Amino acid sequence: MIIKDPRFQQEKTPGPKSQNIVAHPNKIENIAVTKSEIDLANQELVNCIDSLRSNLGTRASNAKILSIVHGCPCPMKCVNDITHINYSNDIDRLYVERHEYVKKKIIDAIQLNFSRSTTIKSEHKINNGTLDIVILYDKIILNYHEKSICIEIKSGRSIDLFQIERYLYESYVLIVVRVPTRDVVPIHQANITEELIAGINSTIKKLDLLNENNLLKVQGEWCKGCTANCEFSKKVSKNNHIARLEFEEFFKNVSNVTDKTIQVLKEEMFKI
Ligand code: SF4
Repeated sequence: MIIKDPRFQQEKTPGPKSQNIVAHPNKIENIAVTKSEIDLANQELVNCIDSLRSNLGTRASNAKILSIVHGCPCPMKCVNDITHINYSNDIDRLYVERHEYVKKKIIDAIQLNFSRSTTIKSEHKINNGTLDIVILYDKIILNYHEKSICIEIKSGRSIDLFQIERYLYESYVLIVVRVPTRDVVPIHQANITEELIAGINSTIKKLDLLNENNLLKVQGEWCKGCTANCEFSKKVSKNNHIARLEFEEFFKNVSNVTDKTIQVLKEEMFKI
């Protein structure tokens, strides 16, 4: 039996309210099964990353290794970048502050709207990264863990779709908040389970390739600025990362996406 919450087991009488509740156990049972499949695949992925890290003698984090492996098709560059991590702190503070501003606005709004039924966590660590906001709520307890909704904020225009995919390995619902375009979009893990598992499996195969001695070289735009010892490496001109911000537009966008996030959260919680 997957659902342990007695409220589900007791509900047998037909009626408007009970129809809603009776419909949920089956739905959640399916989600619990697929969640378990993703958990297994994700655990295998974590094991492969551990093995590669040990073979390469690096201390790179899971998130760093996966972002390199997903972001670059060239195995030789992947290994080079995983073993020569170069963290640059030369980022305009405005980028960081802009992100923090949106995050705190949304956290405050969640507290004001759902304070009694939720636990809110910021900078929540998962196997392959750190989520901006996680909301746990105990309205329904499944046998594997509490239900959670995750929020990832993109305060600038750039967006890493591989990162979104990775976060979905461990998020039941991931709400992507894109401030400049005012998009607030929920993505449901259960709707793309097969695709996520296929993505995990192909990443595992790629990680295996990186353990080989004779690494392939795959040329492409990623050769620009590549620091591997390779004849195809190309120079890249340096950008200076100075943020430009239209403040009035930014404040309007933040207000808009905060309201939309609360609306989406209400809809998601109502479904449960
Ligand atoms: S220069 Fe290009 S082909 Fe050579 S290792 Fe770097 S990314 Fe790969």
